[in-house]
Amino acid sequence: MNPVSPLVAAWASSKPPLLRFLDRCHADYLAENGGDVAHYIPELSKAEPSHFGIGLATLDGHVYEVGDTRVPFTIQSMSKPFVFALALDSLGASRVESVIGVEPSGDPFNSIRLNTDNHPFNPMVNAGAIACSGLIHEAKGNGAFEHIRRELSRFAGRDLDVDEAVYASESATGDRNRAIAYLLRTNSVITDNVSAVLDVYFRQCAILVTARDAAIMAATLANRGINPVTGEQVTTPYAIARTLSVMTSSGMYDYAGEWIYRVGIPAKSGVGGGILASLPARLGLGSYSPRLDKHGNSVRGIKVCERLSAHYDLHMLNRSDDARTSIIADYTIGKNPSRRSRRPHEQEILAAHHQDVRVIELVGTLSFSNVDYISRKLAKRPRPQFVIFDLRRVTAITRAGARMITEQFRELADFRVTVILSGIKRSSEGWKIMREWTEGLHNIRDFYLLDAAIEWAEDQVVYRHGGSIDFHETTELSEQPLLAGLAAEELKELAALGATRTYRRGEKIVGAGEAATSLFFLQSGVVHVTLPDGVRLATLTAGMAFGEMALLEPTRSADVLADASATAVAIAIADFEGFRNRHPRAGERIMRNLAQILSERLIVANTKVNLLTAT
Ligand code: GLN
Repeated sequence: MNPVSPLVAAWASSKPPLLRFLDRCHADYLAENGGDVAHYIPELSKAEPSHFGIGLATLDGHVYEVGDTRVPFTIQSMSKPFVFALALDSLGASRVESVIGVEPSGDPFNSIRLNTDNHPFNPMVNAGAIACSGLIHEAKGNGAFEHIRRELSRFAGRDLDVDEAVYASESATGDRNRAIAYLLRTNSVITDNVSAVLDVYFRQCAILVTARDAAIMAATLANRGINPVTGEQVTTPYAIARTLSVMTSSGMYDYAGEWIYRVGIPAKSGVGGGILASLPARLGLGSYSPRLDKHGNSVRGIKVCERLSAHYDLHMLNRSDDARTSIIADYTIGKNPSRRSRRPHEQEILAAHHQDVRVIELVGTLSFSNVDYISRKLAKRPRPQFVIFDLRRVTAITRAGARMITEQFRELADFRVTVILSGIKRSSEGWKIMREWTEGLHNIRDFYLLDAAIEWAEDQVVYRHGGSIDFHETTELSEQPLLAGLAAEELKELAALGATRTYRRGEKIVGAGEAATSLFFLQSGVVHVTLPDGVRLATLTAGMAFGEMALLEPTRSADVLADASATAVAIAIADFEGFRNRHPRAGERIMRNLAQILSERLIVANTKVNLLTAT
């Protein structure tokens, strides 16, 4: 047996850089023993101070875990952003905003001070959070807590329990919160029974989560409300943006300004020892370590967040974006015509008017900046009649991008330019979005295949310039490029070997994977050659051969389908071989013709590939 090489063994246990980084944070800060567990809720003082777990959830639903990430602890104030989001969604922004402010207080979390309207400063401090619980109680009555528990469970992607001991402990000792709640009630922020509302609040604070849960909950906030692990849309993007706003300004209480200045990631802490940090469009972090600093924030948790932000330069205000990467190819049909073989007079018209069809191939996300850049590129060249936007490599479109691209389409309509979209399947989400955004516009067409889009635009150009698309017929084998240079008698002999076949529109003539037993010379109609994955290789009209790869390969590599009813002469490969044996000179000529045809195809294919890298 071969010994396993050390590299092979090491590869199996290799770790992604991000996990290694979290490992290092964990190892380094495990020695950090500053701060103390919360004592003001007696049950919390029993927490194991050495516990330390870090979870990080990515927006593609992966969760990195280091240390005690499965140890449950009470969520405490980390419940506040989620209950605020819930209040926004279930009662509406105006109702919520009518009793709770959104200004940072600069005070500790349990401050008894209200703002000048006698409202809580914001939903991240106790006063505001109790007010939120009051609103949910107003809407749901006795079902309020269960409503909250279920909502938080959707954020975490699993059913969350309550720590009854912590709940009872806080309920028995929470006089400061009681004072706050009565103050809210005399100012009509709370309208229901104070103890019923506090009961909801104390219970919500006693919900048990782990660092892993906190990471997923934070990632759901970072992902416009879609839980990246379960895929569920938990809250509206509206509520998410508002929630992250108050986390940014007030999530860390009287340390909030310092926090956003140094770390730059919206976050929320809880006296249970948890911190969740949510970087929009990037990640959610959850940490658990119960020793707290004087603000009530986990000491180690803060260090992890600071280091993560500094090491990977994640401060949310330190961003840039290069809009120019969204166009990967930009050309006219002069450079890259469709794969449809054209008659000489069509070719002439298309050559003279190639500027009429502009193709822009896009990639990645269509955002505000990307679409703006695209629109300026478009305006730089002469006005085309047709613009094809190929969206096959577009992965996302932001709301701003969608709005701006529709504005661009409208502008093009005013200039009588037809917009053709390719690369979006009609069954896809993207197509629905495009439909929505282009509703009422009459200058839009779509083709799934870029080649079909180009072909259609070419046809329109030919028509507009008085040309006709001439589907001529030919029974002459002498017109076939594959047979160029053969003598009349040779052609006659070949013709005698063939059988004339007719095909209905849509009929499959040859199928990929079948034995290649004959080759065909098209006499009338149109056929197209497509790969099994739907990529169209060529559209052929009368006078062209197909299935000729049978001369080289025993198995068909592509499908050939009749576009319109078609007639072709089929010659069995065995018969063709016999002919080549009888006429070696002609046989060699045919193989040379084939080599030339293939090399021309290769040149076309290379041009297409180069187009993608040249811009
Ligand atoms: N339940 C705790 C309280 O009201 C929550 C405080 C916090 O986590 N900062 O005191």
